[in-house]
Amino acid sequence: QVIYPRPPQPVVLTFANQKGGVGKTTSAVNVAAALASAGLNVVLLDIDPQGNASTALGAVHREGTPSMYEVLLEGAHLATVLQQCPDIEHLWVCPATLDLSGAEVELVDVNNREYLLQRAITRFIADNDWVDYIVIDCPPSLGLLTLNAFVAGPNVVIPIQAEYYALEGLSSLLRAISRIQAGLNQQLQVAAIMITMFDSRTKLSSEVMAEVGEHFPNQLLRTPIPRSVRLAEAPSYSQSVITYDPRSTGALAYRRVALELAQRFAGGEG
Ligand code: ADP
Ligand code: MG
Repeated sequence: QVIYPRPPQPVVLTFANQKGGVGKTTSAVNVAAALASAGLNVVLLDIDPQGNASTALGAVHREGTPSMYEVLLEGAHLATVLQQCPDIEHLWVCPATLDLSGAEVELVDVNNREYLLQRAITRFIADNDWVDYIVIDCPPSLGLLTLNAFVAGPNVVIPIQAEYYALEGLSSLLRAISRIQAGLNQQLQVAAIMITMFDSRTKLSSEVMAEVGEHFPNQLLRTPIPRSVRLAEAPSYSQSVITYDPRSTGALAYRRVALELAQRFAGGEG
């Protein structure tokens, strides 16, 4: 039995990459599920209007359901939109509904529009000292929703797909992060980079991993996430792979990645 160390203070992990389909949601959901299955208390905030993370964790998210829309645009407390994940005891989800799809536009005229998520999280943590991790699943863009996540916490986790154009787009993401470091959130850092859809049979996958490791030796997580049908299937059963098929290669890899992250934040730099 492996012990996942509990962080001394709540840690906010923002899964972001403006590229779609790189494994942000799959990673946010399964890292959250792995941490929670190990007994840590995890709240996942879904801020992608597609609501894929909400679906994957079995949260109700039809239009009109209290969601991150009410939190961001109406100042609702996170506790009022929180749903317990049906099959994992220590996991909660604040869902996204299609209501959020208008938020990028609606937020433009709102005061302190970059600080809405930070304010919600700060309030929530102050009232709920049991929280260990807040995991944020971002939409595939660098708009106001992702910007809110970059302001809300210091730690960005970047999933990178092991494919030919893997590093394309990474520089614009890093530039966006630097801009925010210079202004809205000086604590912002790339806390971890993880390789997704790794295919051990191809040289390309290892080359991508080696190249990322050269540029980001301290950030690259040692465990790549393999390509696995079980990972892609799990959401259609409203489950993380951690409960859907705990012995699959995908579940094993996400538990390892979650442990790597938990060990990094055990010292309290979260
Ligand atoms: P993003 O949130 O970055 O858009 P997703 O996590 O939704 O990416 O992944 C995109 C698609 O790839 C989804 O259909 C997902 O099920 C699938 N997928 C993600 N990771 C893997 C993997 N390791 N193996 C197989 N399929 C995967
Ligand atoms: Mg997604």
